[in-house]
Amino acid sequence: MNDDLSFDVVVIGGGHAGCEAAAASARMGINTGLYTHKIETIGEMSCNPAIGGLGKGHLVKEIDALDGVMGVVADKSGIQFRLLNRSRGPAVRGPRTQSDRVLYKKYMQKTLLSYCNLRVFSDPVIEFIFSQNRAIGFHTQSGKKINCKKMILTTGTFLNGLIHIGNKKIPAGRHDEKPSTGLSEQLKKFKIKIGRLKTGTPPRLDGSTIDYGNLERQDADTDPEYFSFLTNKTYNEQISCSVTYTNKKVHDIIKKNLNKSAMYSGSIKGVGPRYCPSIEDKIVKFSDKTRHQIFLEPEGLNDKTVYPNGISTSLPVDVQAEILSKINGLEQTRIIRPGYAIEYDYVDPRELNHTLETKKIKSLYLAGQINGTTGYEEAAAQGLMAGINAALSIQKQESLILDRAQAYIGVMIDDLVTKGVAEPYRMFTSRAEYRLSLRADNADARLTQIGINIGVVHHSRSRIFTKKLNKIKELSNSLKTLNISPNQAEKFGVRIAKDGVRRSAFEILSRDGVTFNKLREIWNEIPIASRDEEEQIEISAHYSGYLDKQKSDIIAFRKDESLKIPENIDYNKLSGLSNEVKSKFKLIKPKTLGQALRIDGITPAAAYILLAHVKKGYKKHKSA
Ligand code: FAD
Repeated sequence: MNDDLSFDVVVIGGGHAGCEAAAASARMGINTGLYTHKIETIGEMSCNPAIGGLGKGHLVKEIDALDGVMGVVADKSGIQFRLLNRSRGPAVRGPRTQSDRVLYKKYMQKTLLSYCNLRVFSDPVIEFIFSQNRAIGFHTQSGKKINCKKMILTTGTFLNGLIHIGNKKIPAGRHDEKPSTGLSEQLKKFKIKIGRLKTGTPPRLDGSTIDYGNLERQDADTDPEYFSFLTNKTYNEQISCSVTYTNKKVHDIIKKNLNKSAMYSGSIKGVGPRYCPSIEDKIVKFSDKTRHQIFLEPEGLNDKTVYPNGISTSLPVDVQAEILSKINGLEQTRIIRPGYAIEYDYVDPRELNHTLETKKIKSLYLAGQINGTTGYEEAAAQGLMAGINAALSIQKQESLILDRAQAYIGVMIDDLVTKGVAEPYRMFTSRAEYRLSLRADNADARLTQIGINIGVVHHSRSRIFTKKLNKIKELSNSLKTLNISPNQAEKFGVRIAKDGVRRSAFEILSRDGVTFNKLREIWNEIPIASRDEEEQIEISAHYSGYLDKQKSDIIAFRKDESLKIPENIDYNKLSGLSNEVKSKFKLIKPKTLGQALRIDGITPAAAYILLAHVKKGYKKHKSA
């Protein structure tokens, strides 16, 4: 009997990238397969039990706007919703939730297994099949040969993964899971650049042995901000976290044992995430700090495991125990599982096009931690785009490339493929140039129509979105037809210049401190809308000046992006450029003048030499 199976798109890996990739491809009506180690670990949160945060929350809202799965699953498993930076401007607010780890996995698995067009297999991939420079399938551990037209590789930290705890080294993809070996080596044969990175995780604690008595508490928000534009209720009981701190005794223990830390003893070569440092790193790099915060985050409603956020470590287990015994509230705590660091192979993301297809192996897409990123959200966002682009390619449609002015997803992918990574890449709001336009709250207005146009958004969401958009338009227009004189406005406590000019309700809304409630005091005929709809109009009114300015910046940005650079340029023939610049151009092959300008170390002068060459080429072509 022939066990071979064929799919149009196959996703390898059921982590955060793999789930979105498989779901997106299947939503687009493509015959899709997902191969992973175990169905039970689909949606596993390898590190902290939380989704979102600053910059990361924006990514989740964008994934949701394109009908991805992460937002809905995070809402269903959320046990502590908090909007970070609530008191600051709308551009930098970051939705976050702590998730019940078991519920997250349960809902993710349920979602994927209910998808039409998607078949899921517990059968790891052991060898790729390439035909010349094209990916056409793979062999699995159980001896099956799988054929595919497009392959999306999302193996996270598994490629040649090596766990370090003190001087112990354990080959593993993550705790208690085998690494994937041999696959990186196959990629290297195509001269794909592969490097080593590392990340770490703290010990897990038995919550019943923690003394919460005198610890600070951090409660959930009373008016939760959800991730999905479809969610309108809280599914679970909301819990509090507790906060404790390291202290001098702890710092002394760490300093005394630094030579036993896998990171500091020199046995780890990979670079770790600067923004998520281990406790050893914090003590060495921020030696002036007398204490570091530790959030004690329960991993679930029916789970006594606690994740001590802030003390990831690769020190030996006995040192981990000694450290904990000196921390307020953790004196008697029992370690359920020790902290560890993991080193793994990643692919230099400059090997990828913006579609996330590799430049050297056709039909092979990479997404997630394998591309040098860190974080569930970054992985999921890449998975979504790889899934969409693989599907579009099967459908012979134009690729979907979101630019830096459309989405954080666009910012991240452009950063990765243009600049590469020197350390695990994580998203921050500061990476986006057009923050005020790329808010978490308006991700649907920015992206859902695009998703509808390419067929990645279900009809049910499409209907809800269109209704919301129409409501916002209608309400905004009606605010522009109502108006009031400065004297009348003052009677309602709204001060405007007494120039005799009547102001529209929309203009009144732009005044500091004016909300819809105030407008309704003046005009009680203004119809009621949902909180989301009103918030969109309030933000447009309050920030209209800044948003208009940003629109003109975006027009200038798009001008550079519209100057296309052909793929087949012979960079060796370009005179006036140093060899270093030429080799950067050869590696990245910028698609536009804008992208050429964003390559590290490329001056505007060098980019314009390239442009002049392109223009000369066009002229020759025209006159020929
Ligand atoms: P993963 O979620 O790791 O999923 C990989 C999937 O691929 C798994 O389902 C696996 O079974 C499957 N797979 C692997 N090999 C094969 C194969 N050969 N065949 C089939 N399937 C395969 N992120 C942070 O933001 N902050 C942190 O502090 C942080 N710390 C971390 C600490 C540790 C120890 C680890 C392991 C990860 C940490 N992360 C952290 C990263 C976070 O877990 C990842 O960024 C995220 O899970 C990446 O998603 P992914 O989909 O790329 O890979």
